[in-house]
Amino acid sequence: MTQQDPFDFLEQVLDAFIDRARGELEHRLKSWRVDLAKKEIHEVLGALLARQVSLATQLARCPSIWNDHVAPLVLRAMADVYISLIWITKDPVDRAQKFILYGLGQVKLQIEHRRAEFAGGEPSEVEKAAIEATEAWVNAQRLIYLTEVKLGSWSGVSTREMAEQAECLDFYNLVYTPFSACTHSMWHHVAKYNLRECANPLHQYHQVPYDPDFRPDAHYLYLAGKYLQKALATFDEWAGIAPPTVTAFGELSSGLDRLSGLIEERERSAKEIGDEGGGQETGLAEPHQGG
Ligand SMILES: [Zn+2]
Repeated sequence: MTQQDPFDFLEQVLDAFIDRARGELEHRLKSWRVDLAKKEIHEVLGALLARQVSLATQLARCPSIWNDHVAPLVLRAMADVYISLIWITKDPVDRAQKFILYGLGQVKLQIEHRRAEFAGGEPSEVEKAAIEATEAWVNAQRLIYLTEVKLGSWSGVSTREMAEQAECLDFYNLVYTPFSACTHSMWHHVAKYNLRECANPLHQYHQVPYDPDFRPDAHYLYLAGKYLQKALATFDEWAGIAPPTVTAFGELSSGLDRLSGLIEERERSAKEIGDEGGGQETGLAEPHQGG
């Protein structure tokens, strides 16, 4: 019997994950009773949930970025969504409004910066139209002159405090903070991924910059599935919605396990043929669990 090609199988796993992730969002939207008197809650929590699906499905579409250079950017954004979501569910009326008003204030500030850029000169027709369209977008939600520009964080507290109040400090410490190093290109990221020891022994082991390529590591997709699941579960608990019996994350996990098996088989048989020159590399790092 011929083995299934790991690449073909991976494609099936990704397509199924994307379909299921979107199906999970639809399931919540169908089961959620909307109170139009509090539409901000529906819009904010709904948009954050949809955002989590977008981040996970976009990552699934791009195996070339499942590496230490880029994947943490997406996962850190997913960590942000999760912490915001869980924090808002603890006091939804007030916090959903805060979330919206801060966003509108930011846009108002951007409009002011744009205007300042044109001080002394005239914006072009296209630029003017862009500013007006942005103002109209804010006005449709709240009169722009009533929108306060707030500096600092949207919630009024730090992300760490949000995590503490939402009882997910472990997630903040173990996920949000480590991925922040990559997101902000800090020393403990760049030193590890963009420096290597100089080959010249006379140079006192100084480090030289480089840009290494990494093989795609499906573990990053596993983590995206996991953070999607966490956001969905938080929402379900808050909204009192029964989750679907088969979850996108559950299917993804078993798909990645099977993929791991296929890659091992492939590499084993490649080794056997090896010396005869018939070996084939999958180009994928072997998936692992955890995190
Ligand atoms: Zn050197």
